[in-house]
Amino acid sequence: MVAVVYSDEFLKHITGRVHPESPARVQVCAESLRELPSLHWLAPRPATMTELTWVHKLEYINLVAAMAQRGGGRLDADTPVSPASYEVALLSAGAWLVGMERVLAGEPTLVIARPPGHHARPSTGMGFCIFGNAALAAYFALHQGCQRVAILDWDVHHGNGTQEMVQADSRIAFCSLHQDPAYPGTGAATERGDHGNVLNLPLAPGSDGAVYRQVFTNQVEPFLRAFAPEVLIISAGFDANRADPLAQMLLEPADYGYFTERCRTLTDHILVGLEGGYDLGATRDSIVAVAKALLV
Ligand SMILES: [Zn+2]
Repeated sequence: MVAVVYSDEFLKHITGRVHPESPARVQVCAESLRELPSLHWLAPRPATMTELTWVHKLEYINLVAAMAQRGGGRLDADTPVSPASYEVALLSAGAWLVGMERVLAGEPTLVIARPPGHHARPSTGMGFCIFGNAALAAYFALHQGCQRVAILDWDVHHGNGTQEMVQADSRIAFCSLHQDPAYPGTGAATERGDHGNVLNLPLAPGSDGAVYRQVFTNQVEPFLRAFAPEVLIISAGFDANRADPLAQMLLEPADYGYFTERCRTLTDHILVGLEGGYDLGATRDSIVAVAKALLV
């Protein structure tokens, strides 16, 4: 069995009519996944304050809460907060923790949640992200007794926030494939983490499935295999799809199924959480390809 963590509550984080990070993103993913047999659906829970402070400053958490309470605002030019956004962001972070519990119990798990998290920094939100879901899930696994946790971030943008939250901890490895140049401008190959535990793989705009597969074989897999994680967290953005409006990569949904197959040769303890992906059809087809690869 494969678990899916999802709630319609995620639709209540309102970003505005023209914002690419729309409620429809998770809606179409959930609708398509419901057509697959053998998925085990779970509801999220909110992350607790204690958990959030593993990766965020308390002042920042309180700032988001206060902003939502007074009717909303913006954490940066791209990152709106609506009245329900604080509660929804707690639930999005908690969804990754419910997912991690399932993974540790032996069930690969998909988290279909928003807002996404990999750009959120310890003291600021940015790039559509409010709380650092993937980093939080990694620390949760460590608190549950894991010794070695890896995060693979294949969103087309560098996971700057996640890297910042984990790079000083030798128990966590972080690998990011991303378009360069692109937002947010970080993620140079020279950024290796405090313990050589970070691998950044900047790729030229126009990279296709063949390029990605070669990088997977030659760089991603050896790095992760050498680290030997007990659990693999995938920050699964689908904005490197050819159809995506925010980047210039040329992947097809089937490529994400291939990446998932390769990850399963490393471990079956896999948590896949949604990050970016702004073409609704391509994002939906990609998450279905990932789910099918986990179900094999
Ligand atoms: Zn992205």
